[in-house]
Amino acid sequence: MSIANEKVKVLIIGSGPAGYTAAIYAARAEMKPVLYTGIQPGGQLTITTDVENYPGYPEGIMGPQMMEDFRKQAERFGTDIRFGLATSVDFSSWPLQVTFDEEHVIEAESVIISTGASAKWLDLESEQRLNGHGVSACAVCDGFFFRQMDVAIVGGGDTAAEEATYLAKICKKVHMLVRKGELRASKAMQNRVLATPNIEVHWNTETKEILGHKTVDGVIIRNLISGEETTLDIQGFFVAIGHTPNTEVFKDWVTLDEHGYIKARPGSTHTNIEGVFAAGDVQDRIYRQAVTAAGSGCMAALDAEKFLVAKETATIEE
Ligand code: NDP
Repeated sequence: MSIANEKVKVLIIGSGPAGYTAAIYAARAEMKPVLYTGIQPGGQLTITTDVENYPGYPEGIMGPQMMEDFRKQAERFGTDIRFGLATSVDFSSWPLQVTFDEEHVIEAESVIISTGASAKWLDLESEQRLNGHGVSACAVCDGFFFRQMDVAIVGGGDTAAEEATYLAKICKKVHMLVRKGELRASKAMQNRVLATPNIEVHWNTETKEILGHKTVDGVIIRNLISGEETTLDIQGFFVAIGHTPNTEVFKDWVTLDEHGYIKARPGSTHTNIEGVFAAGDVQDRIYRQAVTAAGSGCMAALDAEKFLVAKETATIEE
């Protein structure tokens, strides 16, 4: 006997600001959304510290707390929130099919993709081998383990700058490894980094190898201009070099740009597939902010609602 697929009006994939905001709007519009969290419920903000630029929090708020508030607000209006990962999709016909954890098939009248983006790695053998043993992509999660020790962090963007200043409060010394002669981070974050006495910025520098057998005990760095190699004694190595959009499972159906982000129709969240909408970092390479993600989550719910009303009207007229 075959088990019938579950039927859902609005299926939301992902639980960052975009997914939860879409859920709040869809639930209040009585579309009974089902939201799958993915493997990191709450998304990237759960691995950050203070969020000071989200409107409505004059004193700032911790990222994990903010995502807890988003979740509660989505639940308050009846969103069905589930832990699970989308493992395959079939968008060849409508209703749209999405399989979770390789076994649970959902037939959805509309799908909102808000799967965000994941941390990038340097792809060094030593980085993979020592991951979780001194190598980390999340200073906020793991910085505590390196109290009063020396650490290094790679990257020159806002994430690296923010994490370097965070680590500087806990660790004895922070070596910031920047591949260019300048930081990409915002001016305010640059100033904060440069004014922190225990952060040393190594400009034009690449990581050659992370040293250590079971734990990290050093890193070999290379100056890209002089070619000179130096070994730094460190116990923790942090990677903060940006993110990759989580679009792998959708790539055979949904049109992506050259960087792998979902292409949404300008001024909307419509993808190339009818009834499939994209919101948040998964379709935004430029802004990537919690507030812009939340805004596009709202747009996706409104677009989905309009789509479902049009579908219903067409069915009645047939
Ligand atoms: P970014 O893409 O902005 O920066 C990535 C950094 O890593 C760049 O300095 C880049 O160097 C460097 N990098 C990339 N690949 C490598 C590599 N293989 N080896 C060495 N270095 C490398 O990513 P972020 O995560 O920093 O930020 C993403 C977005 O989120 C940005 O828009 C940022 O403004 C925003 N953000 C905002 C925050 C806030 O407002 N509180 C906090 C954190 C992020 P290069 O410059 O040479 O390309």
